[in-house]
Amino acid sequence: MSDVRVRIAPSPTGDPHVGFAFTALFNFLYARSNGGKLIFRLEDTDRARLRQDSERRLLEGLHWLGIDCDEGPDQGGMHAPYRQSERLPLYRDSIATLLQGRHAYRCFCSAARLEALRATQRQQKQTPRYDRHCRTLSPDAVARQERQGVPSVVRLKMPLAGTTVFHDELRGELSVANSQLDDAVLLKSDGYPVYHLASVVDDQAMQISHVIRAEEWLSSTPKHVVLYEALGFTPPRFLHLPILRNRDHSKISKRKNPVALRLLAQLGILPAALVNYLALIGGSIEHDHEVCDRDTMIKSFAPQRLNLGGPVFDMQKLLWLNQQYIQNMDEDAFVQHLREEVLNDTKLRRIYPLLRTRLENFAQFFAKAAFFFDGVQDYQAQLETLQPRDELPQVLADLCARLENLTVWTQANIKAQLQAVQQENGFKTKELYLPLRVLVTGSKDSPELLPVLELLGRELVTYRLRCFLNR
Ligand code: GLU
Repeated sequence: MSDVRVRIAPSPTGDPHVGFAFTALFNFLYARSNGGKLIFRLEDTDRARLRQDSERRLLEGLHWLGIDCDEGPDQGGMHAPYRQSERLPLYRDSIATLLQGRHAYRCFCSAARLEALRATQRQQKQTPRYDRHCRTLSPDAVARQERQGVPSVVRLKMPLAGTTVFHDELRGELSVANSQLDDAVLLKSDGYPVYHLASVVDDQAMQISHVIRAEEWLSSTPKHVVLYEALGFTPPRFLHLPILRNRDHSKISKRKNPVALRLLAQLGILPAALVNYLALIGGSIEHDHEVCDRDTMIKSFAPQRLNLGGPVFDMQKLLWLNQQYIQNMDEDAFVQHLREEVLNDTKLRRIYPLLRTRLENFAQFFAKAAFFFDGVQDYQAQLETLQPRDELPQVLADLCARLENLTVWTQANIKAQLQAVQQENGFKTKELYLPLRVLVTGSKDSPELLPVLELLGRELVTYRLRCFLNR
């Protein structure tokens, strides 16, 4: 039995995207190529950013990708529970240990004081950082404030001198001067731990051998190393994955790429092709052919080959690979895919109210419903014939941002955003609705706009707007 145990530890703050898929895939490949275990842990301690349906979507996303875990909130396991919000006593115990060992301290500073401090530091062009005001409070002073019920957080006492050194499996030895590190908050005043504490405590408790996560956490690692030591734990091994990039090498974003897994599925991407593509651009498989099945991927997995330069996510290349997958499907798989994923009953029933009065025969269905299926289609050429107002791009950019932030995607809510944008910019209804309709459906006489927008969904609507805006 291998003692490799790795984890996928998303925060349930939104829809799963390709960055999540990339991290999940490398953890999966690491576990499977070493005969180890893959754990799913939900990091849901940031109550303000929590999104109710996110856990389900994350699990569905993994399922879609074919990444199966060995332990997790849905299947249990020997280290259950796997939701951090259900593990609070564990974090409180660690906090007690840290306070007792004087590795942490209570901080009573008010939000107003911290804000003023940050403002002064910004003015003086210093890095905003806590000034350690409460680090030296006497036990009496602490007890007094606690008695008075002053809200407090618990902060980590970072060493003031020296360096913290750790090893990254891809980057080798890394070190940072402790003077650069902040006294990070570990426990918030709402009693919930922050990510740093919860993940360190759980990685220890769940016997995680390798922490494989995105590069954006590299700068948090020294803090974690100090925490491991303060708690008397031996740190796991760390491997930070490069961040996916847009074609212009900026960090991958929904402005420039279809990043939501749901959108990629809507654009007709096969999960196997996506997984294959991510493994390829990650550069970690020793394999000559571009099409590479899962077993080969696991067998040829060589994490030290990972492309640290920043793998570029290029939709055109993904479509090319997707085409190879479609080409390789046998007749049964092809027919089954079309039946189950493309023309399934659910989709047909959703289209029914929009199209049933518009067909003279059923052959017209394909042309009139194409916009619903062909997400990659580009409808910008049709826009020219409308001679839209010059301000249209700015107005659509504004609308797109609003639609992206809309929490509940209903016709009424979409309409409210359309109206707001229209009024603020002095656009007539037609001046906004018509170009919008053409951009999302490719035609002036498509079914009514609001039901169409609702049906297409936020991801596809905003993706089409972004394609237009990026021109
Ligand atoms: N909850 C963190 C995230 O959302 C996990 C970081 C880690 O893997 O340590 O990405």
